Amino acid sequence: MKTPVHALVSLVGMFGFVSLGFEGYAAEAKPLRVLIIDGQNNHNWKSTTPVLVDALSQSGRFTVEVSTAPPKGQPKEAWSTWSPDFAGFAAIVSNYNGELWPEPVQRAFETYVSSGGGFVCVHAANNSFPEWLEYNKMIGLGGWGGRNEKNGPFVYRKGGELVRDTSPGSGGGHGPQHEFTVEVLDSEHPITKGLPLKWKHTADELYHALRGPGENLKLLGVAHSPVTQRDEPMLLTLSYGKGRVFHTPMGHSDVSMKCAGFQTVLERGTEWAASGAVTLLVPADFPTEEAVAPRK
Ligand code: ZN
Repeated sequence: MKTPVHALVSLVGMFGFVSLGFEGYAAEAKPLRVLIIDGQNNHNWKSTTPVLVDALSQSGRFTVEVSTAPPKGQPKEAWSTWSPDFAGFAAIVSNYNGELWPEPVQRAFETYVSSGGGFVCVHAANNSFPEWLEYNKMIGLGGWGGRNEKNGPFVYRKGGELVRDTSPGSGGGHGPQHEFTVEVLDSEHPITKGLPLKWKHTADELYHALRGPGENLKLLGVAHSPVTQRDEPMLLTLSYGKGRVFHTPMGHSDVSMKCAGFQTVLERGTEWAASGAVTLLVPADFPTEEAVAPRK
């Protein structure tokens, strides 16, 4: 008689625990510490960083801090005090496009990502640092800054195939801002799992002709460019050593960043880069194939 009763009690206890664990998981998970870097950009970082902070904070999954690098044209001494403690964060989000960071900061960032840190590259952050090879390996593809065939192939999709195009030419371009459809290529990846296969993004620059080392790169989503007639990378993941990188060329302005689709992939991409997993759900206001979903 004793044995079945004990078995029953432990079974109830086990189910109770499991059920509590599932219900409480997202809320109970320790927030991931995220650092956004800004301070220089040919875009209005003063209006876009707050949108990134709000989106990440409101997900409830992160605590968010910002490190603002010295403005352009400062003497070397101004940079000597700027040395973010990368290792204290689960992921670094770059909203920076400007002067090269000091050597010690570059090396610290390389060590941070290669030893397992998370990195998220947003829009013009992929214009940054054409001369810094390791950074280009992290982001995979970049534009402008004199990038050309020496920096690596153009990477895009054409006729359903991933193309690495080594033809000569400068990297980076876009047409006028417009609403465009993002096509999800990989629904099994934690970042894109559960997203509609096609969704309409709020008006943004559709970057084309990005090129770079393109190593260890996974293309999760593309958008068809009316300029190149190619499917251009919009959602990418990369590995750099033990580190995980999420890269999206979307996010030109605060308006583009207020797209519920952009914010969802930013949050899920950051969670994945930081932890290797995604617990954040697809929100009810996510855009559809027909309709954009701008947030306030
Ligand atoms: Zn832009």
